[in-house]
Amino acid sequence: SDHDIEYPLTPDHMDWSKQYGDYAAGRQVEFADIGCGYGGLLMRLSPMFPETLMIGMEIRVKVSDYVNEKIQALRKHHEGAGHYRNIAVLRSNAMKYMPNYFRKGQLSKMFFLFPDPHFKNKKHKWRIITPTLVSEYAYVLREQGLIYTITDVKDLHDWMVKHLNEHPLFERLSDDEMKADPVVAMLYESTEEGQKVTRNDGEKWPAVFRRLPNPPL
Ligand code: SAM
Repeated sequence: SDHDIEYPLTPDHMDWSKQYGDYAAGRQVEFADIGCGYGGLLMRLSPMFPETLMIGMEIRVKVSDYVNEKIQALRKHHEGAGHYRNIAVLRSNAMKYMPNYFRKGQLSKMFFLFPDPHFKNKKHKWRIITPTLVSEYAYVLREQGLIYTITDVKDLHDWMVKHLNEHPLFERLSDDEMKADPVVAMLYESTEEGQKVTRNDGEKWPAVFRRLPNPPL
């Protein structure tokens, strides 16, 4: 349940120094890992984009607490070098509060790695990719920003591709474009869920979508 989540009234009410300390000064969050779980992706991306603030959003209290403790420990361990100051986690329901946290066009990358499949038809409305939510993601993403998805559930992959394809503000990247992006290689094995799928010899389906410019009115 999420009724106890405190969330900012508007992005201006958000004090990111709680997450990033001094490192938040003059920077804004640009990457969001939605349903980050145990945070493996953030820890992989952190040294690849050391100047970029990244946030994991996770609804489970214990899991987000764990990720926070892990990040604090990493920062402490690398204090001299100042590594891992650019990653943090928020306990939040990403299906509800995205525009409270992020301004229009603020994000350059959003990640949906191995999201919960909600198999049954009646539960599809709980999926993290739906037409309504895709519009919200388009709002917080800048032009040319990217949505990265990966799943081991073929039906969920088809569902995410369908809804992103059908949205006028998104265009799918070609296989060549995906190969040229070093972030794509990180989708498969960085997270706990991706590692679990590998252990079980499961297949993985990635897809990446680009945020198109708004059409002229
Ligand atoms: N991305 C991680 C990985 O690859 O290991 C976690 C995958 S796990 C199957 C899905 C995660 O999404 C869970 O940790 C769950 O608590 C989180 N989640 C589900 N719905 C959410 C929501 N509305 N807002 C934030 N997190 C959510």
